[in-house]
Amino acid sequence: TKLLVGTNNKGKLREIRNLLPKNIKILSISDLKIKSPKENGKTFKENSLIKSRYFSKKTNLMCLADDSGLEIDILKKSPGIYSARWGGKNSDFKKAIKKVYRELYKKDKNWKNKIIKARFACSLSISYLNKKIACVLGKVEGSISNEPKGQNGFGYDPIFIPKNKKKTFGEMKSSQKYKLDHRYQAFKKIKKFL
Ligand code: IMP
Repeated sequence: TKLLVGTNNKGKLREIRNLLPKNIKILSISDLKIKSPKENGKTFKENSLIKSRYFSKKTNLMCLADDSGLEIDILKKSPGIYSARWGGKNSDFKKAIKKVYRELYKKDKNWKNKIIKARFACSLSISYLNKKIACVLGKVEGSISNEPKGQNGFGYDPIFIPKNKKKTFGEMKSSQKYKLDHRYQAFKKIKKFL
C-alpha cells in the first residue's frame, strides 16, 4: 500500500499522483531527499528501470519511476532521452524550446510551413529492489507549434499540439491534457500491476 514515486519533477509528481488509486500511500523522493542516479540508459525504458531499481534499493520500498521526453522526427527523434538536459543545468525550458526552434531552422529554413511530426513518450516502470515488476511505454502523437503558446503545464507543453487538436498542451487545462498524454497512456498499461 506504500509506493515511492521516483521523480523530483513537481509537474510529473502531480500528474502521477492524480493517476494513482487513492488508497495507495504515495511517497516522493523529494520528501525523502534522495538524489537521482545517472541516467545512462539508451532508451526511455532503460532509464525508467535504472531509476526505479535505484530508488527501491535505497529505500526498500516498491518504486514507480518514469522517464519521458519529446521526439521530433526530422531531428532524428531528438531531444528524446535528452529532453531534460536540453534545458541546461537549471532545467530552463525557455532555453530548451529555443534550442528546438534553432535545430528545426538549421534542418529546414522552411519548417514553419510544414507539419513537424513529434510525439511525447513515457516509460513507467515498477521495481522492488533489483526485481522488475513491470516496464511499459506510452505515447502521444502530435506536431510542433510554430511558436510557444500557453502558460499551463511544464517543459515542452507550449510547443506540442496533440494530433487532431488545435491547441498546444500549454494552452490546455491540466484536466484536459492528462487524459491525452503519454503518461496516461503508459499508466493505463501499468495499472494492472498495482
Ligand atoms: P526525465 O525527468 O528524464 O523523464 O525528463 C523528461 C523531460 O521531458 C522533462 O523534463 C520535460 O522536458 C520533457 N517532458 C516529459 N513529459 C512532458 C510533458 O508532459 N510535457 C512537457 N514536457 C515533458
